[in-house]
Amino acid sequence: MQKEKLGLLVISFLIVIFAVLIVTKLSQKADYVTVLLYHSVINQDEMPDKYLDKNGEVKSRYVITTENFEKQMDILKKYNYKTLTLDEFHDFVTGKRDVPKNSVLITFDDGLKNQYVNAYPILKKHHFKAASFLMTSKIAQDNEEYDAKKGQYISQEEIDNSKDVFEYASHTHKFHKKTEGKKAYLIAKNSKEIKKDLKKSFQIVDKKYLAYPYGVYDKKLYKLLRNLEVKCAFTNKKGKVKKNSNVYAVKRNNIKNSYSEEKFKKIVGIEIQ
Ligand SMILES: [Zn+2]
Repeated sequence: MQKEKLGLLVISFLIVIFAVLIVTKLSQKADYVTVLLYHSVINQDEMPDKYLDKNGEVKSRYVITTENFEKQMDILKKYNYKTLTLDEFHDFVTGKRDVPKNSVLITFDDGLKNQYVNAYPILKKHHFKAASFLMTSKIAQDNEEYDAKKGQYISQEEIDNSKDVFEYASHTHKFHKKTEGKKAYLIAKNSKEIKKDLKKSFQIVDKKYLAYPYGVYDKKLYKLLRNLEVKCAFTNKKGKVKKNSNVYAVKRNNIKNSYSEEKFKKIVGIEIQ
């Protein structure tokens, strides 16, 4: 009888310890968040030659195969990652909210149709969220048939159909351009022109977030963005985003097709055993 009681006590004790461990693990808060950046997502067997080198490997830093993209999403799922919304991310950066340790923000630039065709179903399957930065003047008016070789843009109907996964934000309206002197428009143009372009773009997208074309920006833009009540602006500079860092110089990590699984894990902060 006494032995049974003791056994029960030991088991209860172990259950309590186990529960405490789980709760502690789940409630670990992030000190930093990684932002991932993708452009084109194209199936290996549909890859246009212009993106391949002589050995048939993807050479463009702006293209990933659908297969590798899916492997990366599988890793995030396996390690229990939470994909943040833009507002959750903003609240983390401004210190208004804590997010779990395994948090990541997935972003896409340029509003390409291949993102809708290839990345969207994978994200949906994984129950992930992502942000998509559109050049709003390039949104396709009709639904052309998808052709990997064509470099098509997402249509309004596709945008409307994919809001369960994607939040749409701005990559400028018509200012994803450079001057003859190779200066990005957001640097070269005057404030009035920039403001006009961004205002137009923010009328079309849902969220007041901006991805700088070419990742190019300068400090003069901060005031303008503040006046427009833009919540965050994203660069292409790699690194982790810490709490209370500059909301208008958010670091993002461009994910190349050539990255190994280990390299990807390192970028998102998975410790390799
Ligand atoms: Zn771009």
